[in-house]
Amino acid sequence: MQARKNVVIVGAGPAGLLATIFLLRRNLNESGTKYHVTLLDPGEDYGKMDADGLNRARSWMIGLSCHGLSAIREVPDLYEKYIHGLGIDIVKARIGLTKSIKFEIHAKDILIEDSSFTVDRNYICAALSRYINDNFGDDENYVSRYQHRALYVDGENKYLITRPQDGSANEDLSIQYDAVLGCDGIRSVVRNAFINGHRDFEFDLKGTFGYGKSVHVKLPDDVDEGTFMFINDALPGWGSFILPETGRQLNVALGTTVNKKCPPELESSDPKVVAQYFRTHWHAFDIDADDAGRQWVNQSWNSISMVHCNFYHSLKLSALLLGDAAHATSPQIGQGMNTALADASALNALLDEHKDNWEAVLPKFSELRVKEGNALTDLSFYTFSLNSATQIKLLINAQIRQKLNKYFPWLVAPDPMNEIPKGMKLSEAYNRMSKLGAIKYVRKENDDIMREHFEKCVGMVTEDKAKHGIMYKCLMYGLPVVAASAVIFARGSSKDL
Ligand SMILES: Cc1cc2nc3c(=O)[nH]c(=O)nc-3n(C[C@H](O)[C@H](O)[C@H](O)COP(=O)(O)OP(=O)(O)OC[C@H]3O[C@@H](n4cnc5c(N)ncnc54)[C@H](O)[C@@H]3O)c2cc1C
Repeated sequence: MQARKNVVIVGAGPAGLLATIFLLRRNLNESGTKYHVTLLDPGEDYGKMDADGLNRARSWMIGLSCHGLSAIREVPDLYEKYIHGLGIDIVKARIGLTKSIKFEIHAKDILIEDSSFTVDRNYICAALSRYINDNFGDDENYVSRYQHRALYVDGENKYLITRPQDGSANEDLSIQYDAVLGCDGIRSVVRNAFINGHRDFEFDLKGTFGYGKSVHVKLPDDVDEGTFMFINDALPGWGSFILPETGRQLNVALGTTVNKKCPPELESSDPKVVAQYFRTHWHAFDIDADDAGRQWVNQSWNSISMVHCNFYHSLKLSALLLGDAAHATSPQIGQGMNTALADASALNALLDEHKDNWEAVLPKFSELRVKEGNALTDLSFYTFSLNSATQIKLLINAQIRQKLNKYFPWLVAPDPMNEIPKGMKLSEAYNRMSKLGAIKYVRKENDDIMREHFEKCVGMVTEDKAKHGIMYKCLMYGLPVVAASAVIFARGSSKDL
């Protein structure tokens, strides 16, 4: 008899949607396991929204590159008919070290052709969902439950409780499963079951020590379409990542670290005050300061967190964690969604390799993906220094390495970070960056900065001691050293006598 498997996929983000596609496509193989897939998400189905609705539901721009695109391209027609043309191809990167020191890198020098573009996260979700609706909308093996939030996974009895979010008085629903995929993002409910069910499960959710806001601006005349920018000190003490958007716009994300005091102008609720601050300080390109001011005051502060886990599978719960549920990350290297999509592809490949034997696939998934997920979060956070002087040094070093590699490729290896968008495994890039010494150095510096801030914030170390650091250190360590030396000297002298 043909094997049947009920899989519940929690979360219709990029990871959950691509995993749904891969599993439903496995049913096309007549003799293999038959999958019944239930997809759950508290939000709306972006695949059923019209262009206006989707435009209103815009989220943030994402750089989609080799890891994500390769996963998508494994599904025939998905890229060509649903994804291609949704975003803007990256043509160059502009790096601004200071107001006057800027340089550009052409995408063709560091990327494979047709391998990188930016697109709104929700446009990707809409495209993946449209593919599902077109190809499996009437399939009896597929049930979508949008506007349903998963509340709890009962691993012992293999069912999941969900609650409708549509305001109806409908009661909580219990769904039986054979396997559950936690694709439910950073606050994963499926991951909670790992915490409850496994004493050896280690997990942490940490902030990335930053906060900021983002504005959408018209593409200036002197900036080519498809230009990605990183501008250090775009506003005093604030860095900016700028990604090209469709409709000749730029998505300007501005942020700083939590240990830096926010200028009162940027905290103002008066758009004119914010606009004046932009007019005085913004230097990356011409900007409509009034519009930026209006957008700024009409949004709250953003902050981003990251997640680390020591394994992504549970045989006991018959569950896997994919995407941000397993490895949410700071977006600096632009690989979070790429890795989420690659997780779905890795699961599909393992199901092929182990002929749909989930008992074998689950531990193998951790074996393959935990190193990629942890490399992702650590490369994202520990190759960017929270100390701006170190950050400038790192950018200059990377640029020198790039140039040396261009002219002496037999002598100098390429910068590993530039190889990731071309397809280098994150774990391999991590290995190379570790050997270059960069990660160890930045990890220490970043961790020290964060710890010092925490200690001051909660009052473990008082401001006085920190302020009079040298005097304090002399008193704390200098006096005992002097006293000990005096004792040794005195003993030595008495022996001589
Ligand atoms: C500002 C910013 C810029 C970024 N830039 C990039 C970039 O350039 N490149 C890149 O690759 N990545 C980038 N990322 C990261 C990327 O957005 C995420 O890594 C990606 O969206 C993760 O996909 P996911 O499907 O795992 O999770 P998510 O996108 O978080 O989706 C999770 C889904 O689960 C649903 N859900 C949550 N809780 C429940 C529940 N209890 N029950 C049911 N469903 C639930 C949510 O509604 C959501 O639809 C960026 C992120 C940010 C914030």
